[in-house]
Amino acid sequence: PGKDAYIGRFAPTPSGPLHFGSLVAALASYLDAKAHNGLWLMRIEDIDPPREQPGASDAILQALEAFELFRDGKVMYQSQQNERYQDQVDQLLDQGLAYRCQCSRKQLKGYTVYPNSCRKNPPPTDAECAIRLKTDGSFSIEDRIQGHCQWPMDQVGDFIIQRRDKLFAYQLAVVLDDKEQGINQVVRGYDILESTPRQLQLLKHLNLTPPAYAHIPVIVQANGQKLSKQNLAPAINSKEKHQLLLRALAALQVFPEQEIQACAYSDILHWAVSQWDPSRLAMKQEIPEADLPSST
Ligand code: GLU
Repeated sequence: PGKDAYIGRFAPTPSGPLHFGSLVAALASYLDAKAHNGLWLMRIEDIDPPREQPGASDAILQALEAFELFRDGKVMYQSQQNERYQDQVDQLLDQGLAYRCQCSRKQLKGYTVYPNSCRKNPPPTDAECAIRLKTDGSFSIEDRIQGHCQWPMDQVGDFIIQRRDKLFAYQLAVVLDDKEQGINQVVRGYDILESTPRQLQLLKHLNLTPPAYAHIPVIVQANGQKLSKQNLAPAINSKEKHQLLLRALAALQVFPEQEIQACAYSDILHWAVSQWDPSRLAMKQEIPEADLPSST
């Protein structure tokens, strides 16, 4: 692909099987990539073993194939990238852009922003430490769906990029892997928008150009809860794939007429690529599941 070619991705965390909310996110990033004749890459974000569910990675990949969302290229697994992450953490430490922090969760209770204790008073060299990234200034983006977003970093605060137990933080892995995979377009859930300033700060420290962002609305249940693996959203059943595709498209404001609805699955998906227009989701942050066509 040329240097301006679209490269997008879907990057699920394998903490459970694909549920309806993640199907919508996968479909949005797929449609956006295909509508731009772009590549749609896959990355399994398995950097946090305690949060993972055995078999979930394969189940997610199989579900995406069952829904005919075929990826380009090989799957990247974050669990295999530790060396690269460690090199970058060490380099950020050497450059003075990150520092060691020994504050316990208990010590930080009640703070919403890290009080910079270890930035001011470095811990002894033999202490077991987490690594925190220095933040400064403010960042803004023109999100393709959410519009202008701006974050003063003194309200975000210095944040952890490597935990005391040596596990790497999502923020670090996402930025380094998007770089590694050549991603220049990020389409993902609105729930991750709040992580974006941290990723922008990392990109700045690493002298990298940010991708374009589109944060799509998240599906919420009748009780107002987000559909997520944490609150045990049910796995989707690919036997109902036709109906689920229509529901997922409705969530993304794509409404096929009766004639199209009666077509074969692959024809509807193909048609949807030609209809994709993320501006229909402008400024929307949530979509109530109840507003979607019924699943039976
Ligand atoms: N792994 C994250 C999730 O499943 C998505 C990360 C991203 O798209 O940047 O919620």
